[in-house]
Amino acid sequence: MVLESVPKALGIVYAVLAVVVLAYLWKTGRFSRRHALGFLVVSAALGFLLFSPVFPYLLQLVILRRTMELGVLLPAAVTGLAVFIAVTLLAGRIVCGQICPVGAVQELMYHLPVPRYGRDLTPQAGFVRAGVFVVILATGVGLSANLLDSIGLKDFFSLSPAIPGFVVFLAIVLLSAAVYRPFCRFICPYGLFLALAASRSRWKIRRTDACIQCGKCEQACPVNVATAENSKAECYLCGRCTEACPVDGALVYGRES
Ligand code: SF4
Ligand code: SF4
Repeated sequence: MVLESVPKALGIVYAVLAVVVLAYLWKTGRFSRRHALGFLVVSAALGFLLFSPVFPYLLQLVILRRTMELGVLLPAAVTGLAVFIAVTLLAGRIVCGQICPVGAVQELMYHLPVPRYGRDLTPQAGFVRAGVFVVILATGVGLSANLLDSIGLKDFFSLSPAIPGFVVFLAIVLLSAAVYRPFCRFICPYGLFLALAASRSRWKIRRTDACIQCGKCEQACPVNVATAENSKAECYLCGRCTEACPVDGALVYGRES
């Protein structure tokens, strides 16, 4: 399904434009889950059509020094990944929220009306993801192994069901209907860096004095990070908390005042 003749750079250009638009929507208080849905559909479609911008896979190829498999020079790949980490330092995980196709597919699955689990596993998930990163790094550098290939990330987006890895990644995607973003929270090597950046991000969702402590944002958050004191390292800027808040101006996106 992936159109190999179309340059992967098109996905990166989309990511840059989408970051700008989404940051603008958040900063002006116009972000809504309806806007988010449009970006999620486009981002997921780009994953299947271009296999770009699939950030975790690009990082895996950087570790392997094989970025030319995606037609990208190694310095360009490193620079691109660094730029989006810098964007996250400014604006939080907009890239994860609606732009990365891997996150988008899982986010779309989470719209299905099924029982939900794993909301409170966010701290443990962070430790697991750090461990997985060490394994990806060690097997990549030491054995030249592509772990994300082994779990079928590329096979899934290429719609190659005959390959065993496809089934593994399909299982992860199906799981994401009931458990919020299992790949992002437990596996994604790039997510580890983005989470670290987001914990220090300048702009993030913050409570103001208008908050009436009703707790509705906390109930709505799929990763249990809507509490006032949370660093928002694992905030995927999904917009559920702002949508659930009954008080205008109680939750704002911006810098600490
Ligand atoms: S955590 Fe990784 S896979 Fe998930 S949206 Fe972010 S970059 Fe993509
Ligand atoms: S509901 Fe949670 S993850 Fe979504 S934007 Fe709010 S704090 Fe972030």
